[in-house]
Amino acid sequence: MAKAFITGITGQDGAYLAQFLLDKGYDVWGLARRTSTGGLHLDRLEWLGVLDRVKIVEGDLSDLSSLIRIIAEVDPDEVYNLAAQSFVATSWQQPHLTANVTGVGVLNILEALRLLKSKARFYQASSSEMFGLIQHEKQSEQTPFYPRSPYAVAKLYGHWITVNYRESFGMHASSGILFNHESPLRGEEFVTRKVTAGAARIKLGLASELRLGNIHAKRDWGHARDYVQAMWMMLQQDTADDFVIATGQTWTVEHMVDIAFAHAGISVKDHLVIDPALFRPAEVDVLLGDPAKAQAKLGWEPTTSLEDMIAEMVDADLARLARRAA
Ligand code: NDP
Ligand code: GDP
Repeated sequence: MAKAFITGITGQDGAYLAQFLLDKGYDVWGLARRTSTGGLHLDRLEWLGVLDRVKIVEGDLSDLSSLIRIIAEVDPDEVYNLAAQSFVATSWQQPHLTANVTGVGVLNILEALRLLKSKARFYQASSSEMFGLIQHEKQSEQTPFYPRSPYAVAKLYGHWITVNYRESFGMHASSGILFNHESPLRGEEFVTRKVTAGAARIKLGLASELRLGNIHAKRDWGHARDYVQAMWMMLQQDTADDFVIATGQTWTVEHMVDIAFAHAGISVKDHLVIDPALFRPAEVDVLLGDPAKAQAKLGWEPTTSLEDMIAEMVDADLARLARRAA
């Protein structure tokens, strides 16, 4: 039975990837960090019904010794490095933490693999945020990077150290440059989930308004369930490589709000408030990915439209709130 080790297993992608790999028959291990209040944050795994089938080990991406101990113990065939301080807005508030976890954390896990002479295949969760101030209208593996936040700068380090370890030590290390992907398990601080949870609250009379920042920003949004499949596909290639994963379509935040509010049956003009405090110090105005290489080499295709995904998220938020009220 192939063994996979996932850092960030308690996050959105980690939970979907764990479910995907379990369905493929993998022995799935995941890294989780202790907190004083909430235990190990295992609710997403529980939501997907896979918590009792994964093996959780305690450690932290910023603690090299914990990673060495865990890699030695688990001896994985595939390592998916999904752990990160992943929220762009927070990266201006906590830039050092973001650099240490989202950037140098990648080096830590690569070093743990190298020092232990592990033959594991490695996946790094890189981000379209690295394109930032876009240099090509449609961003591909050839597009130069121009990061616009401490998060994106840290991700750029993670991307290049992955490429460098592949070229320096012959490691099977791939970097997936994933565009925004969402789901009912997306953190509530990200705009899609903030909107779907907000629409659900307004619909149920639990809130009267939703406050947003720049609604003219455009994103290429896909579904996390589709995107974790691409991660696995990358590690099944004979040769490690880098791939853009995207839908090839871009929409404004405003358009996404329209879909969510229409699905919830509430009016945008009566409830949406623009709050300048939510504008970012530097914005990424538009992202639009070109997934042609992933389609040709991996045979990967996105399967979920923005409309269907947002409807799924609104329905899940309505159901959650109804359960809480019951
Ligand atoms: P989440 O924010 O949902 O999950 C992040 C995960 O990282 C959580 O499991 C979190 O644990 C863990 N983590 C944070 N800090 C540490 C640490 N110091 N040590 C160990 N674990 C830690 O992110 P997503 O699932 O959405 O994204 C997965 C990865 O893909 C991230 O690296 C993200 O930056 C990247 N990415 C995501 C995109 C997206 O649109 N979703 C787009 C492109 C890239 P805890 O539960 O304890 O907080
Ligand atoms: P990001 O692309 O990783 O930063 O994903 P987010 O979902 O956090 O943000 C996507 C876009 O939505 C960015 O351009 C934000 O500026 C914009 N946006 C507008 N209002 C909000 C808001 O209230 N919260 C968040 N998170 N983003 C917002």
